Amino acid sequence: LTQGVYLDNRTPSAGIKGTPQERTFIAVKPDGVQRALVGEIIKRFEARGYKLVGLKMLVPSKALAEKHYADLRTKPFFKGLVEYMTNGKAPVVGMVWEGQDVIRQGRRMLGATNPLESDAGTIRGDFCISIGRNIIHGSDSYESALKEITLWFNENELADWQLANTEWINS
Ligand code: ADP
Repeated sequence: LTQGVYLDNRTPSAGIKGTPQERTFIAVKPDGVQRALVGEIIKRFEARGYKLVGLKMLVPSKALAEKHYADLRTKPFFKGLVEYMTNGKAPVVGMVWEGQDVIRQGRRMLGATNPLESDAGTIRGDFCISIGRNIIHGSDSYESALKEITLWFNENELADWQLANTEWINS
């Protein structure tokens, strides 16, 4: 990116909770990328009325994946999870989405952690069946969103732009 208007340092990375400026971190995991679901996932957030403010594709380092999943470090599946996220068989697509209640709504759009418990119509409920291959991540709270956006993105990688449609979506 060489042009554009970026957020200044006074703006918290997760935006402003409870406003149309709230932000969440969504990541298509390697299995979602491998299964060619990146477009489908972006489509659902766009169609809902959310605004894409950050987007990158990368194979995360072990350190990044371990920090991202730090809360799970004592779980038996932790090592396998980090291996899977970082082995490079497919990259991760990390995104920051912005809009009213996007953290909570993002989780609803994802479905339950275990896809077998996810409602049909959710991303996991429609596209996967295994808890170890549940294709997508979404921040589960404002605190997680702040932590994860800061971990995966630099401030100057988040675009500050106006969705022309905003009054049709938010009024
Ligand atoms: P979520 O991704 O829905 O926030 P968690 O934070 O509990 O769920 O777990 C993070 C990720 O760890 C899950 O999305 C899944 O990829 C993996 N995971 C969770 N539980 C298991 C499990 N029992 N076996 C294998 N992987 C798991």
